[in-house]
Amino acid sequence: LSVSDLVDASFTRIGEVDSKVQAFLALNEEDARSSAKQLDEQLGQGGSRGLLFGLPIGIKDNIVTEGITTTCASRFLSNYNPIYDATVVRKLKEAQTVTVGKLNMDEFAMGGSNENSAFHPTYNPWNLQHVPGGSSGGSAAAVAAGEVYFSLGSDTGGSIRQPAAYCGIVGMKPTYGLVSRYGLVAFASSLDQIGPLTKNVEDSAYLLQAISGYDPQDSTSANVDIPDYISSLTGDIKGLRIAVPKEYIGEGIDPAVKAKVLEALKVLEGLGAKWEEVSMPHTEYAVAAYYLLASSEASSNLARFDGVRYGVRSSDARNLLEVYQKSRSDGFGAEVKRRIMLGTYALSSGYYDAYYLKAQKVRTLIKQDFDQALADFDVIIGPTAPTTAFKIGEQTNDPLTMYLNDILTIPVNLAGLPAISVPCGLVEGLPVGLQVIGKALDEATILRVAHAFE
Ligand code: GLN
Repeated sequence: LSVSDLVDASFTRIGEVDSKVQAFLALNEEDARSSAKQLDEQLGQGGSRGLLFGLPIGIKDNIVTEGITTTCASRFLSNYNPIYDATVVRKLKEAQTVTVGKLNMDEFAMGGSNENSAFHPTYNPWNLQHVPGGSSGGSAAAVAAGEVYFSLGSDTGGSIRQPAAYCGIVGMKPTYGLVSRYGLVAFASSLDQIGPLTKNVEDSAYLLQAISGYDPQDSTSANVDIPDYISSLTGDIKGLRIAVPKEYIGEGIDPAVKAKVLEALKVLEGLGAKWEEVSMPHTEYAVAAYYLLASSEASSNLARFDGVRYGVRSSDARNLLEVYQKSRSDGFGAEVKRRIMLGTYALSSGYYDAYYLKAQKVRTLIKQDFDQALADFDVIIGPTAPTTAFKIGEQTNDPLTMYLNDILTIPVNLAGLPAISVPCGLVEGLPVGLQVIGKALDEATILRVAHAFE
């Protein structure tokens, strides 16, 4: 099989299914075919293979790609064609992948269903009436539908893990700082991480190996040695200590989802692990704290979209103020505006202490819940999301219900920890995700557990 064959197969599959799934925002066909040819020629001339040699991949559209539009699924950036590659994109090129295209998402990664894309929704390949999850919904659907070998997503409050769960694939959010954010269009800088969406855990280990590592261009990048993730997949989890927070399997969790998680815990017990129920008492405040903090950071990060420096400028603005006002009014969708308003309010003088500062304190308490549990246990396990994928349109008029979907993933971002979602069965034909949360920089353990389970 040549690289050209693989890339061919990818575009054939896209041709067959993407009119239904609609995972892509842009295809990179000409360029992909010519780099496939180049890789084949290099190999023919005795060149060596990179770690991910010749694999066709997709990239979430908030990760900048030189020469391929990067829209963040926003009208504001509909014409933005970056002049550089994100660090992760550069690393994947070094590992010799082939970028097939850019994947749909909720606008600026704000959402959990892909319905906030300014261009079109993406549909769940398991059942086209359901959402694929979000915000990396295109990234998850493209892998689940076999359009690409794997993809990159970003996770600020669950945006890799929740769509992975809804689409029956593996999604990992690395420890904050492990993967460079250089070239990731910022949503909430203290929470954002890029990570892999793959068909299985082994692929996740390979992809993480390729993209992680210190980057001087990201001031929050962790300067640590990167372990060999691939060799950590030993299958051996004897003696592993698992904490199961009672808040993660309690009220608000679909009983059928809970049942699948309990079955999964039985499987893990069969492999020699032990689990115990614990309490993470601050879980119930995580969603409120997250929406204040993430929106505050977003209101600041999105100030750069002013109609002057990037993207679309309103053509009927008559002065500078109108350039800002009209470009932003036309360019941003409703959810993005809602968050900018909430964040600006939370940061404004007089309210700062009551909202932003308070939320920061709650963040510390949540981090302490994790520190305590992970002092006595190796990993924390629960569902990735409270339900399976909901129907398209079911929650669009109710942002608060939509926000509550993230209750199980958000705490992990607030604490900066790594977590992986691995499929653990079906409920009424739709996949359920099992979430394995680990200690900071201990990706090797959560990969090992997920791999042993899978
Ligand atoms: N659904 C969450 C939100 O809307 C998480 C998004 C994300 O992780 N990017 O903010």
